[in-house]
Amino acid sequence: MSHSHSAASAPSVLVTGGAGYIGTHTMVELLNAGHNVVCIDNFSNSSPEAVRRVEKITGRQVTLVEGDIRDTDTLQVLLSQRPIDRVIHFAALKAVGESVSRPLAYYDNNIGGTLALLAACQQAGVRRFVFSSSATVYGNPQALPLTEDAPLSAVNPYGATKLMVERILEDMCHADPQFAVVSLRYFNPVGAHDSGTIGEDPRDIPNNLFPFITQVAVGKRPHLNVFGNDWPTHDGTGVRDYIHVVDLALGHLAALDYSAQQSGYAAVNLGTGRGTSVLDMVHAFEHATGQRVPHVVAPRRAGDIAACWADPTRAERLLNWRAQRSLEQMCASGWTWQQGNPDGYRRS
Ligand code: NAD
Ligand code: UDP
Repeated sequence: MSHSHSAASAPSVLVTGGAGYIGTHTMVELLNAGHNVVCIDNFSNSSPEAVRRVEKITGRQVTLVEGDIRDTDTLQVLLSQRPIDRVIHFAALKAVGESVSRPLAYYDNNIGGTLALLAACQQAGVRRFVFSSSATVYGNPQALPLTEDAPLSAVNPYGATKLMVERILEDMCHADPQFAVVSLRYFNPVGAHDSGTIGEDPRDIPNNLFPFITQVAVGKRPHLNVFGNDWPTHDGTGVRDYIHVVDLALGHLAALDYSAQQSGYAAVNLGTGRGTSVLDMVHAFEHATGQRVPHVVAPRRAGDIAACWADPTRAERLLNWRAQRSLEQMCASGWTWQQGNPDGYRRS
């Protein structure tokens, strides 16, 4: 690439959990924009193959460190050996149900891991930080759309870790006026890169709607269970704000730019501002792909909320970012990935 010469001498972005679903898509956009990228991942929910695919898409190399962010020695060596000036922190455990049955694992990994990372950053003088938060910090919304000023609450241990880390980061900003943090509150990321070579790769039966739909369409599961059709929504099924993962990835680049110019703490929604029901999604998927998605109505899922969508205006105002990609593009790209990689990164 034409900018590879200057990029070689420029400082790197440290991406924790970069081998995961959102991390791979973000690394592609970072590399395409000319950033140097150092990735640390323990592959607890991913594989090195995902990073090789990122390199293939971009024609650039990622400096890959296999390691755990809770390992202070690894972090210290990494940050002292390389010129790193900012961090995008994805590494976390993310399954809500599992967080209820294994709370200690979640508090340890998500909070303990972030504390270790922050201590190492502080020691190395790295002060720009983008954090993967979640719309789950809004708990059960009282009013829609959700602005960043809506009340926050944790309804499960996973959500508690996101809330607590946001709080820790805000406190860091108060303590050090040069510290710059953007907590990105993701709504529901779906879809895949247009190449069809990276995408979401759930290890077990998917908990989330979109990967479940693609697995039904490819014939791995007989039908989708629609968790309740008696919610107070336009068709009775649950409503969410689905956002194309490439749009989400680009939001991280915008947040990095912002944190380079602005110190202090900001929490920013990354969503489209549109609500889509389970049945809307099924129909959009069928329309975009020509595949049938057999579905049956099942009881409500414990802990679910009726509806949730973002007010994305702060992201537009602060980051000059807005989601561009349609529901149809989310469905088509997710289907291309699923078809080409029926077993994810394992055998294909
Ligand atoms: P993912 O599981 O695909 O990626 C997370 C990555 O972090 C994995 O590669 C995993 O191996 C790695 N990891 C976990 N613990 C680690 C540790 N201690 N040290 C090093 N690496 C570690 O998940 P994702 O969907 O890409 O999510 C990324 C981030 O976004 C997470 O923080 C998640 O909580 C958050 N988030 C995700 C969603 C979503 O729907 N996917 C929604 C809101 C927020
Ligand atoms: N959902 C569903 N069947 C599934 C998985 C999810 O009907 O197999 C519904 C779920 O009840 C919710 C929506 O799809 O209304 C989105 O669920 P997901 O788990 O993807 O996201 P979250 O609830 O965490 O926002």
